[in-house]
Parts: sequence; C-alpha cells; structure tokens
Amino acid sequence: MFRAFLIKYAEIGLKGNNRYLFENALRDRVKDALKVLGAFSVSKEQGRIFVECPEGYDYEETVEALKCVFGISSICPVVVIDGTDWDSLEKGVGDYVEAMYPDRHFTFKVEAKRADKQYPLTSPDICAKMGACLLRRFPELKVDVHNPDVRITVEVRTRAYVYSVNIPGLGGMPVGTNGKAMLLLSGGIDSPVAGYMISKRGVSMEAVYFHAPPYTSERAKQKVIDLASQISRYAGPMKLFIVNFTDIQLYIYDKCPHEELTIIMRRYMMRIAERLAEKEGCLGLVTGESIGQVASQTMHSLAATNEVCTMPVYRPLIAFDKKDIVEIAERIKTFETSIQPYEDCCTIFVARHPVIRPDIRIIRKSEKKLADRIDEMVEEAIRTSEVIDIG
Ligand code: ATP
Ligand code: MG
Repeated sequence: MFRAFLIKYAEIGLKGNNRYLFENALRDRVKDALKVLGAFSVSKEQGRIFVECPEGYDYEETVEALKCVFGISSICPVVVIDGTDWDSLEKGVGDYVEAMYPDRHFTFKVEAKRADKQYPLTSPDICAKMGACLLRRFPELKVDVHNPDVRITVEVRTRAYVYSVNIPGLGGMPVGTNGKAMLLLSGGIDSPVAGYMISKRGVSMEAVYFHAPPYTSERAKQKVIDLASQISRYAGPMKLFIVNFTDIQLYIYDKCPHEELTIIMRRYMMRIAERLAEKEGCLGLVTGESIGQVASQTMHSLAATNEVCTMPVYRPLIAFDKKDIVEIAERIKTFETSIQPYEDCCTIFVARHPVIRPDIRIIRKSEKKLADRIDEMVEEAIRTSEVIDIG
C-alpha cells in the first residue's frame, strides 16, 4: 500500500548555514542506495527527504537499503493524499487507517505538522478535527493522547502525507560530509567495525590491507575484499589497496629481536598506510585497536605504533570491550566473514613472548638495523600495491 517514504534526519538539522550541503549529501546517498533497486525518485522537501517508489518495487528490500544509509533518523512509509483540502484529508486519513489496521481496537492520537503556514488550520486544529472524524468513522477506536498504541501523523505540505510507522534509521551523518580516511583493514573482527563507526560520522573511506603471500593465502585476501564490500554497503565505494608486505616482514624477522617483531611490523604498516593516505587525500588513519586487547595494544605499544605517524590516527574502538565490538560486527554483518579461519599476516610472525611494554628508544634502535634496505622496500611496497575498486 505504500508508494513513498518520508525520511527524517536528525543531527544534520543542526548545521546552520551548511545545512543544505548535508541535505544534498543525504539525498545523494539515498539515491545511491536505491539505484540498484529500481527507478526511485528522491527529492528534498522542507526538512525531509521524500522517496517515491516505482511500480512493483520491493518494500522489504527498499527498507533494508535505507537502513544502511547514515544520516537517517527514521524511515516512514507514507501514503500520499493528493489534495490538502479538508475533505481529501479526512478521506485519505480514514482510508489509511482502514487499510492499515483491519482490527481497530486500539488507542490512537493524531499528530499534525504543517509545512505550509498559510494552511487555514493550525496543527492542533488538524489533530482535534481529524481525531473526531476518525472516531466517527471507526467507533471502536479510542483516543489516548498520552500513551497511544498508534500515532497517526498527518503532514500537510504541497501534498499531504499520512503515516504511523517510524522505522529507526542508523543515525550518524551522510557519508561524504566529513572528509576521507584510510582504514587499515585486516581480516579480523575489529577493523571492519572501526571503519563502519568512523564512516557513520560522515567520513568516506579508502582501505589498505597488508598481505604476506605465501604466508597468508589468497583466501585471506578474499576475506578482506569481502569485508570491504560489506562495509561499503554503509560507507560507499572505496579503493582497497593490497600491499605486499612479505619482504618487509621477512627483513624485520631477519634483523630485529623477535619479541619486537609485531611492534616494528605495526610501525611499518602505519608508515605505509600514511603514505597511501597522503596520496589519496585522506585526513587520517583508522585502526581497530582497543587498549589492552593484545600485547600490541597496550598503552606502551600504542604509543610506539603511534609515534611514526604525523596524521591523526582514529581508533574508535579504543575503549570498547571485545563483546561490544562483536555485537556491532554481528549487527553490521561482518562477523561471519571475520571469523573465517584464514590467517592474517600478524599471526604468522608473532613471537611467543612479544614485548608488552616496548621502549620507544629501544625500538628505534632496532629499526636502525633495517637502514640498508628498508626505505627502498617501503617504496617498492607502495609502488607495487594492487588497487581494487569496491562497491
Ligand atoms: P582486527 O580484529 O581488526 O584484525 P586485532 O585485534 O587482530 O584487530 P591487531 O592484529 O593487533 O589487532 O591489529 C590492530 C589493527 O591494525 C587492526 O585493527 C587493523 O586496523 C590493523 N591491522 C592489523 N593487521 C593488518 C593487516 N594485515 N592489514 C591492514 N591492517 C592491519
Ligand atoms: Mg587482526
């Protein structure tokens, strides 16, 4: 019965003079999300986005797609009433209630909004008058203005809309309104969630994966490609850089104390990611680190890893417990992919007893042992990185 959706947004309403930029971005993201599903028409309409659906569209699929768009606070399937004169409104709203609720033993309240302030009735007038009309047409209904079972909303604009269902959206801000970041995406549980969270604040994303063939398999790489596709459902299209990290890892393994291996490796990942980020016009790096989760994420280790970057490093999971991260991973449907058992490059070169309180001065000294070849190897890794377009 629904041929249209009214989309409400929350936080972008607070953006003052820039508001139109946020509204345009949200309209465009909604268009992007729906274009694969058919010829939807998407337009801005006074504080709302209005979606008109093509003949024969799939309701469930459309709602699912809209539920992946950041910046939406709620999705309201609406019935459009053509006229705004009282007779049309009364009939339109009554027909809506009749079709939507075959069993009308419930309490209700009418809520009204008029975008057109010239409209002859005020919002409270519309509520009172419509409530009375509905009671007359459906005597089994009861009014409860404090705690109704059903809120019937009538919005009078150039046309009028009626709805009573608010499907919660994701919140956040439309992707593309807040610059771009480079996500260090491994095959684990955490980094896809980290990317999702930063992107929720309107940030678009490129990603980098450090691959170490033959120590890490093609399937491990495919897993990361799959995860990138899953986050791009929310974050939009992204480039995924696959950096061949094998030679650098072997070189570190050869030259440096094994208990420092992970830290030094992480420092080179950050350095390379930062270089790629600069090339791509990104304003920060994103990782899935969380304090104390593993040896390489103690405060000491994070300080050592952080030291090599000048770009801000965003760690949205920094204070999250694993179970809370898992909960988000399940919700955004990356979890099943993340737990596939393909090794990632860190698990192969880990020492039995990695340092948990690395001393930055000692780490720097160990890295000096790489001086002969490391710069050229880093250049080579960047130069030969493979780029995959996702989404
Ligand atoms: P994740 O679940 O995201 O893999 P983790 O708990 O396994 O995280 P680490 O392996 O210490 O933690 O990695 C910390 C962060 O470093 C990851 O969240 C990710 O952002 C980045 N990272 C680790 N390995 C890789 C890799 N092979 N390619 C790209 N980024 C990586
Ligand atoms: Mg990992």
